[in-house]
Amino acid sequence: MPINAWLRAPRHLVVLFLGITLVLIVALGWLGGRLLQQDRALERQRVQDRLELAADRAAAAFTRRLAAIEDSLARLSATPQSELPIAAGRYADQLASDALLVVLTADGLESFPKGRLIYHPVTSPEVPPASVFARGEALEFRERDYERAGRLFRSLAQSDDPAVRAGALLRLARIHRKADRLDAALAVYADLAQLGDTPVGELPAELVARFARLTVLEELSRVAELQLEADSLYADLYAGRWQITRAGFRFHTQEVGRYVGSDIVHDPGNSMSAHKAVALAEGVDRLWRDWRSGQPDTRSVDRRIVWVGDDPFLIIRVGSSRSAAGIIAGAGQLDDWLTQVELTQATDGVALAIADVQGKPIISRFSDQPEVQARRAAAETGLPLTLRVASASLDADFIQLAERRRVMLLGMSVVALLVLVSLYAVTRGVTRELEAARLKSDFVAAVSHEFRTPLTSMRQLTELLIAGRVASAERRALYYNVINRESERLHRLVEGLLDFGRMEAGALEFHLEDIEVGALVRELVDEFQQEVGERGYEIVLNGGGEGGGGADTYTVRADDEALKRALWNLLDNAVKYSPDCKTVWIDETPENGCIAIRVRDRGVGIARADQKAVFQKFFRGRGRQIDGVKGTGIGLAMVRHIVEAHGGEVQVESEPGAGSTFTVRLPLASD
Ligand code: ADP
Repeated sequence: MPINAWLRAPRHLVVLFLGITLVLIVALGWLGGRLLQQDRALERQRVQDRLELAADRAAAAFTRRLAAIEDSLARLSATPQSELPIAAGRYADQLASDALLVVLTADGLESFPKGRLIYHPVTSPEVPPASVFARGEALEFRERDYERAGRLFRSLAQSDDPAVRAGALLRLARIHRKADRLDAALAVYADLAQLGDTPVGELPAELVARFARLTVLEELSRVAELQLEADSLYADLYAGRWQITRAGFRFHTQEVGRYVGSDIVHDPGNSMSAHKAVALAEGVDRLWRDWRSGQPDTRSVDRRIVWVGDDPFLIIRVGSSRSAAGIIAGAGQLDDWLTQVELTQATDGVALAIADVQGKPIISRFSDQPEVQARRAAAETGLPLTLRVASASLDADFIQLAERRRVMLLGMSVVALLVLVSLYAVTRGVTRELEAARLKSDFVAAVSHEFRTPLTSMRQLTELLIAGRVASAERRALYYNVINRESERLHRLVEGLLDFGRMEAGALEFHLEDIEVGALVRELVDEFQQEVGERGYEIVLNGGGEGGGGADTYTVRADDEALKRALWNLLDNAVKYSPDCKTVWIDETPENGCIAIRVRDRGVGIARADQKAVFQKFFRGRGRQIDGVKGTGIGLAMVRHIVEAHGGEVQVESEPGAGSTFTVRLPLASD
């Protein structure tokens, strides 16, 4: 079909409406989208403001926290040596397991709590004068007189000075080993181990003795003992039992590590992992070196993050170059402080994260890249770290937004739906009106046609009669008859149209009376038979049996004339639409409280799609295509109106090509 034809009314209206609706919906969607975008931007700004505020508060709280720590450190650095262990110990007890308090003096470095530092940046061994052992060593090395040398060292081992005692025992054990008295050497080493931290050379006596015992036990192949002692020595090294240097620590852990069981190597029995312990010691080493390289006599506060491998430490040092105190705080300690900051601050609904000055993350309480966050760089806050604040739950922040979005989407959907519904309603209304207009014009044409045929034949016959051109009386009688029949047909037509007009205006009145259905139908059939008999049609009443519907009589409350008109219409249609089979059947049968009057034909039938529509006014089905069939499309509409006004119903069953049956059901009159 060419597009122009397709777009003719009513389709072009539908297309127009559809276009307008589409534009409306798109505009609505665009507006809604813009609105949502703005709303989101506003919400983001609101969250951002809140986070900025929280970031300021957190920075202030962190600053206060560090100031308090620095106060304590300042006090500790000024504490007299005698009170230091108690004061520092008490303070260090509050620290997390990866933090250390150190006090730095000209004498060296002391760390708290004890045992957490596995090696020290400095040791201050008191080396005993070598001259004490000179005689003995001369006997041992030059004269190789082990007996006398041994005696000499044994007597020195009784000295009051523990350093001399330790030196003597070490040498005595050496002589035993040279003399191959390994058991005796072991015993002497055991004695030496009793001297604990007493320095021999640069190392504590106990460490030297216990390490020496391992080598002797190895020589003696006393594997079980060797293993046991090695394990415990290894654990003690990692427990920070002795004040030794990094080199000492590295050497001994490496050497002892050769003897220990593999499970011990990874778990030196410390509360921290070996790795962390080393990192902490390394941190202390840095602190020490920094302090030593600082300007003399300048009171200073130094705080910064240092990384030892992957481990971050915050180092805070307060004091002068003569005495200072510091804290090395690992990630665990920083986490604790962060928690305190969170607790002291009204930081509800926000999460904190800290990073070093360059922004390398240390602790984060939220996902990597939050949508909204506030940042405080070290330069802004004066803190040794970067502070970041994000929403603890961004979802919660945007919940209202989501709610508004839902409402808006719902509103927009409703509006869109309304637009669509109204489009549908308008289109339907317009289509119907146009269809009705078409039907009406068809109706006018049909009515004119209905009138013209009888009028034409009446005029021709009357002209003939007036002109006196019909000679035979018989012919004249025939013509009068035709004129009479045609005028009756016109009369019925006009009555029908008038009734239809009244029906349309709601002014059709019925005069109800008790009517015996059988008699009414018989009378109607007689009249109708006369009407159509000439054309060869036969109306069969109640299957053709004598006496109609038998002995029973059925009464209904009805308007005699109206009911006849309705049934006449049905019979008229049955005849009109049966061009071939010229028999029409009518019968009435009782059906629980009703009387059913059926008019049946074997005519053209009604297409299934049309069966509902035939009762609409002006509707004319495909039957009108039969040659010579006239009609106005109001017959069945009248039938339905009349039957329903009588409290009944009318139905059609039809098979195209096989015929139709119209059934009128009327309630029986109650006695
Ligand atoms: P019309 O004046 O066209 O007969 P009706 O209202 O009486 O108007 O009938 C409506 C349409 O129903 C008819 O145009 C016809 O197509 C169909 N129709 C009615 N009765 C019959 C029938 N007995 N057999 C076939 N078609 C019928």
